[in-house]
Amino acid sequence: MAKDGNAGPLNEHDERALWLRAATDALRGDFEASSLPLPGNIRFGFSTKGKGTQKTGECWHSPASADGAYEVFIRADQGEPLEILGILVRELVHAALPVEDSHGKRYKAAAAKVGLVGKMRAAVPGRLLEARLQRLLEDLGPIPRAALDITWSAFDKPKRQIGRMLKATCAGGNNDAGAFEECGYTVRLASKWAKEYGAHCPKHGAIPVEFPPDDPETELDQQAEGVIPAELVGA
Ligand SMILES: [Zn+2]
Repeated sequence: MAKDGNAGPLNEHDERALWLRAATDALRGDFEASSLPLPGNIRFGFSTKGKGTQKTGECWHSPASADGAYEVFIRADQGEPLEILGILVRELVHAALPVEDSHGKRYKAAAAKVGLVGKMRAAVPGRLLEARLQRLLEDLGPIPRAALDITWSAFDKPKRQIGRMLKATCAGGNNDAGAFEECGYTVRLASKWAKEYGAHCPKHGAIPVEFPPDDPETELDQQAEGVIPAELVGA
């Protein structure tokens, strides 16, 4: 970001991997201060959708690589530099831990040390870390990338989804007396209507739509809208 009175940003990175490397090098001190030194051999890239996951970032541990490097990937639809730095920090925490400790409680403790907050599968920078990343962003200058629309595929426009019927089944809900009753009401509807209005059981209200796994309208989005209770979404 340009500073007042200056011609432009301090740095100019013409490759996005270099931007991420510069960010990582700047964060090494922060990780060391949290007793989580980062490995030296980290490479950076941008995945498209990852390996069928919902994840905005990935960290592949050193043993997976033929030359023992760590690989950090940011999903290609990410375009906000501050959010990308948040994802980067989340992935660097994985890289700072031995692979067998890189999930669960050890991960959670380490993530908290560097200033990530919230649910671990979607941890975000807390206030202090966000301020730190904001300053870092000003030093780094613009990231040479823009969000890629990953509903496209590599050689083609997004697939037309007309005619594809989605299924929604009601698991049940409370009856008039307030007691839970099972249901099973099932409806099939076009993707367009599912996205615009969702699906509803006449007795029990909103019900989750089974979107195909490659659909951007995923269970995570439905979870955010409260259609699927968090405890029903697999970790
Ligand atoms: Zn129902």
